[in-house]
Amino acid sequence: MQTCDTLLGMNFHAARGRSEKRRVDGRWRLSRSASRLFLATAFLTGILCGQNHDLGYEDTPILPGLPYRVHDPKRPHPPVVSPAKDPGGAPSDAIVLFNGKDLSEWHTTKDDGGAGNSPWKVGDGYFEVVPKAGNLATNKKFGNFQLHIEWASPTQITGTSQERGNSGVFLMGKFEIQVLDSYHNPTYADGQAGSIYGQWPPLANAVRPTGEWNSYDIVFEAPRFAGGKLLEPAYITLFLNGILLHNRKAAMGPTLHRELAHYEALPAEDSLVLQDHGNRVRYRNVWIRRLSSYDLPEK
Ligand code: MG
Repeated sequence: MQTCDTLLGMNFHAARGRSEKRRVDGRWRLSRSASRLFLATAFLTGILCGQNHDLGYEDTPILPGLPYRVHDPKRPHPPVVSPAKDPGGAPSDAIVLFNGKDLSEWHTTKDDGGAGNSPWKVGDGYFEVVPKAGNLATNKKFGNFQLHIEWASPTQITGTSQERGNSGVFLMGKFEIQVLDSYHNPTYADGQAGSIYGQWPPLANAVRPTGEWNSYDIVFEAPRFAGGKLLEPAYITLFLNGILLHNRKAAMGPTLHRELAHYEALPAEDSLVLQDHGNRVRYRNVWIRRLSSYDLPEK
């Protein structure tokens, strides 16, 4: 390849030698005929040397700590994922947790009723907390994931502070992202909508007016343990209605009320849980993607 690059350089100088040496704007420029000569010889050199950089380069530096070069043609290509037709919709590789019709992906945790035995109400394209029915948990378990979920507090305002439109998205069933009607509803900062409950207030209060639909987009990294000892805490990234509320924020531990959170060994994966806090909060358009890794072999 080095030889080919040298040949290309020689082509340029040969072309320049035949140029009429025009000086434009203080710089030497090739004449039109010399430019044509250069392009033609460059094309032939490319063919002879087999150079095609469409798919990468084999003469570039090795990336630190990786088996690949910069622009390495041998580096695996990521899988193709088709986005949804509409923004917020489930992409082609998502696990759809609510299809708008039934709760077959969920079960209640109050009486361990099992899959498909949920007493939460299913309406037209949404499902709703039934007070005292218990929390709702996914049948599948998830560790590292991207989650999209939409929620709406009851249109009719009742209660104040934590008693108004309260529910919650418990990541791995342990880390609560608060769901609350925080529209003109004073409460403690680490308990308002989008807080990592009891630990970190959201970076902004971006809720829509009472009763309107809100969207959470969450990236969750499960905590890691070795021999019961914490290696890495859980990390949470959260957008509410497209506005960043947490940027890979470390959780102090599973959610507690009026106590300091702390870690004890947890499984690598667990159910996603929605909270029954006694308020008729609605959910819709729930989908999840397990997080992928870089440079996986191509399928
Ligand atoms: Mg809650």
